[in-house]
Amino acid sequence: MPLSKPRLIKELIGRIPPSQRADVAGVLIPEVDLQKRIALMGKAIAKDYKGKDVLVVSLLSGTVLFLADLLRRLEFPLRVDFLGVSSYGSGTESGKLVFNKELKLDVRGAHVLVVDDILDTGKTLRAVTEKILALKPASIRTCVLLDKKERRVGNIEADYVGFQIPDWFVVGYGLDFAERYRNLPYVGVLKPEVYAPKQSLIRKPSR
Ligand code: 5GP
Ligand code: MG
Repeated sequence: MPLSKPRLIKELIGRIPPSQRADVAGVLIPEVDLQKRIALMGKAIAKDYKGKDVLVVSLLSGTVLFLADLLRRLEFPLRVDFLGVSSYGSGTESGKLVFNKELKLDVRGAHVLVVDDILDTGKTLRAVTEKILALKPASIRTCVLLDKKERRVGNIEADYVGFQIPDWFVVGYGLDFAERYRNLPYVGVLKPEVYAPKQSLIRKPSR
């Protein structure tokens, strides 16, 4: 679902700790819109996977809040496992991918649904899909809350997408900047001075 007119809503910064409130420029996707969309995604997923042995593979750590809300909408038996993946790099480009937590459950023969927070260049989802395919699942599909199409490298798409967003660096609802802001209840954007205190604001945060 593309955001019809992306804009930052200052009035909704509201109910968060004052120390963090000062850092937030505005809200891109309010809580109520996240919940409505996730309910629809849950319905679509439940319909597609009727009667199947589903293994949800969630990528740590950005998916924590999205996963918790999505799982509540998946009203069928399933298993959940976690894969730890981070990308170390500088500047705006994603760097080298490192797997820092492996799967615990058996993937062979399962219908795998990979859940990630945001699809950006596509590097993460491509590497994760390849890794899981090598374990011989019955099928694999991908589900992301956010999709930044502008930054895609190659032709990878997710099967289930919450919102298409512009090329803005977003935080909250599980997404971090330097490991902080994951606890914001909405998807928001930080003030530029948070990323680059007292410096030129041209550089964006690394991902
Ligand atoms: P990709 O491999 O598709 O380039 O990047 C995907 C990963 O980069 C996401 O799982 C997320 O961790 C990180 N990422 C990309 N864009 C953003 C963003 O706007 N905000 C945050 N916090 N992380 C992002
Ligand atoms: Mg991530």
